[in-house]
Amino acid sequence: MRDLIDNLEKNKILSNEEFIFLLNNISDQEAKYLFEKARNIANSVYENKVYIRGLIEVSNYCKNDCYYCGIRCSNKNANRYRLSFDDIMKSCSIGYELGFRTFVLQGGEDSFFSDEVLCKIITCIKSKYPECAITLSLGERSYESYLNLYNAGADRYLLRHETANNNHYSKLHPKNLSLENRKKCLFNLKEIGYQVGSGFMVGSPFQTTQNIVEDLLFLKELSPHMIGIGPFISHKDTPFKNYSNGNVNLTLILISILRLMFPNSLIPATTALGTLCDNGRELGILSGANVIMPNLSPKDVRNKYMLYDNKLATGAESAEGLDKLRNNLKKIGYDISIERGDYKE
Ligand code: SAH
Repeated sequence: MRDLIDNLEKNKILSNEEFIFLLNNISDQEAKYLFEKARNIANSVYENKVYIRGLIEVSNYCKNDCYYCGIRCSNKNANRYRLSFDDIMKSCSIGYELGFRTFVLQGGEDSFFSDEVLCKIITCIKSKYPECAITLSLGERSYESYLNLYNAGADRYLLRHETANNNHYSKLHPKNLSLENRKKCLFNLKEIGYQVGSGFMVGSPFQTTQNIVEDLLFLKELSPHMIGIGPFISHKDTPFKNYSNGNVNLTLILISILRLMFPNSLIPATTALGTLCDNGRELGILSGANVIMPNLSPKDVRNKYMLYDNKLATGAESAEGLDKLRNNLKKIGYDISIERGDYKE
């Protein structure tokens, strides 16, 4: 087992069988060994810095019907909202004052946010805060649309592939969505010049160890700048309401494996990790993650962007809770960085 971990550390890719063996047999002691290696690699590239991103959830309207997601279009219990131009600019202003230098605009696939509307928002944020990065996370769009948004000033794009196995993909999504198109979007984003983020849920319904290995191998092929993974958490108004949540320890092991596979990548300790476990985000950082994305949405909409049950949005999880987050991280030897936090080549 330790030789496999050492090989990953030397940047050797493991075979399918080796990954399966590692994931199925790693002991607690060996996991500790892995976490420490991953942490050391993260520290050697990014020191003990944790980059922060202000997450602005612009809309929970969505035309898609992903079986796992609380804001899927057929969830009639979702209380829908959409931020106005002024709401978004106000969130950026609050975030800027707090020290954020990256704004992440995330939302469901809401046709209100046309290229025209988004370009206006992006241009305005960039003219007010030229030194800030803009990250978008608005789902699948055409090549032309991604290009327009990039030309307006967007720097980064987050689009998790969700699962790299076709059969598994079809168990998580309705027929009109395909893994093929999702992957095509990711390669288009890279070609255009975005810093690209992808990733998957850990423990989503029907996921096998083999599926996870396929996720790791797909990520190797894509070679993204950012990788977001978090445990699946069930939502009471979805077809997956009775499925169990993903495992926190497996998520941490995967964060470490990803850190060894992609030493320079930007890996968030996700909200889902913090939701399932009190100190989940700290554990994520100690496993090699180096990014945290506090919630910067207007307070009155935060409980409406409910991707899964009990999603955290207050305390150290919120933009106003930055001091608390800073203290929590200090205790484990890390400092919040207020730099833009771009990918280091
Ligand atoms: N519409 C955008 C943003 C989706 S929300 C897009 O398509 O990319 C961001 C991420 O939340 C998703 O990519 C998914 O991986 C995650 N997510 C959604 N529902 C979840 C759940 N029930 N548990 C854990 N993560 C979930």
